[in-house]
Amino acid sequence: QEEVIFSLNELVEQVASFVYPRLLELKVSLQQELEDDLYVKGIQEEVRQVIINIIFNAIEVMVATDTESVIHIKGYRKGDSIYLEASNTGPKIPDSLIKDIFEPFVTTKKTGTGLGLYVSRQIIEKHQGQLLCSSTEEWTTFTIILPAPELKE
Ligand code: ADP
Ligand code: MG
Repeated sequence: QEEVIFSLNELVEQVASFVYPRLLELKVSLQQELEDDLYVKGIQEEVRQVIINIIFNAIEVMVATDTESVIHIKGYRKGDSIYLEASNTGPKIPDSLIKDIFEPFVTTKKTGTGLGLYVSRQIIEKHQGQLLCSSTEEWTTFTIILPAPELKE
């Protein structure tokens, strides 16, 4: 696998169409708010895996709750960084748990591995980026921050 410059817009679109049938089934609305032409550099399959891990976790929250569910994906460039925020409605992650969710084998699921977020953070850090989480009573947000590549003419 080699490093390439690829479109984050296309990658999000791929993941969105992949999970779309499941979202319909669960009556989850997917909102997308991405600036055009967001490019990042790295191993596309790995970054795709991170987005899938985060969306799958969000879907698993939706399965467990009965209220109206929304997944909101926002992408933008700020300074020399590209931000991709994936937010889902659902209960707040307690402070005692949120400090550990990126550690390996930390899971609250009966059959969870607790490896998804650990591996995701490893991947993003390998790409010189950051993977962050914040959670309120209404929304949980995972933010991927990656360096914006210099685009040569
Ligand atoms: P797993 O999905 O196997 O449990 P992860 O590393 O993907 O492992 O996630 C670790 C834990 O973080 C989950 O078990 C869950 O408690 C919490 N978590 C992850 N994503 C969310 C989310 N969107 N909302 C609430 N809790 C979450
Ligand atoms: Mg997971």
